[in-house]
Amino acid sequence: MNFNTAIIFAKGGMRYNLHVLKQILKKPVPLLISAGFVFACALLIMSLYATDSPTLKIFSSANTIRLQAARTVVRNGPGPMYDQLAILPRNQRLTVLNRAHGWLQVRIGARGDEGWIAGWHLDNSSTSGTTDRMAEATIVLDAGHGGSDPGSLAVDGTTDPRYFEKTYTLKTVRQIRDALASTGARVILTRNSDRLLWPLSKITDISKKYHADAFISIHYDNFQVANAASGVTEYYYHRDTSNSYELANTIKDHFTNLPIANRGAQFGDFYVIRESYLPSVLLEMGYLNNTNDFQYIQSDSYRQTVANDLRNALEDWFNNVQPKLKKTE
Ligand SMILES: [Zn+2]
Repeated sequence: MNFNTAIIFAKGGMRYNLHVLKQILKKPVPLLISAGFVFACALLIMSLYATDSPTLKIFSSANTIRLQAARTVVRNGPGPMYDQLAILPRNQRLTVLNRAHGWLQVRIGARGDEGWIAGWHLDNSSTSGTTDRMAEATIVLDAGHGGSDPGSLAVDGTTDPRYFEKTYTLKTVRQIRDALASTGARVILTRNSDRLLWPLSKITDISKKYHADAFISIHYDNFQVANAASGVTEYYYHRDTSNSYELANTIKDHFTNLPIANRGAQFGDFYVIRESYLPSVLLEMGYLNNTNDFQYIQSDSYRQTVANDLRNALEDWFNNVQPKLKKTE
């Protein structure tokens, strides 16, 4: 329904309204548009009568919260690298002053200090109360390719999805996500199904939206000659900014349990790490068209080893490596 029709519909007599209604009912598409228009009007009216901002309302009407975790860290800014101001116990009440990409700015007590806490720890009363920086990190995991883009192909298959790179990148990011669950970090997957994210800016936009602290894109490699190349490579793009070079090397140093050789941290001109201004790496976890590498890639236990080593690397990165880098800047 366009604007003019809406006015006629509103001002016209009952007979005319019935006529328009019959016309609408004859055509299912205009009916859907009309229903959408009514729904949009209802939403608009509801938003006009809402008194609190919707972001604050979800926590409580009085904008106060009670901490569920055994211990909650308060920092002087919305991210894990800001200085720690306090560690608060379970049941501590806080006033919410502001909210930014998953973090809450809070006041402790009636007239107390102000600081920031990681908002995702409030949703889970079983959070162990980990107080290291890793628990406050937001990590974006990207499963390379997907949907109409299969990625690399294995030696033996061209049409069977079991031989597509996109299948193994998705399996791998899910295993990494599960391996990170106990750390308390917020883990975001760019895709959790067989779909294509295109253009590639859709992937880098996810890191921006969540204000991610690390971006990791998972791939499996391919060489023009089958069985002619083997190994794992940690790619970075930015060397002098964003600490991507240091993150790639930290991950390389923790891939100590892999049965496939490591080709080392290398420069790679890939969109998702080039157009990314946070610590960002693209990991090629073996060659899909190398029969030996592919045997490992297909096995759950290889991918689990990748996930475990990467968890150790990220814990070292957030708790030890990156805090020292920050001081030297
Ligand atoms: Zn790939």
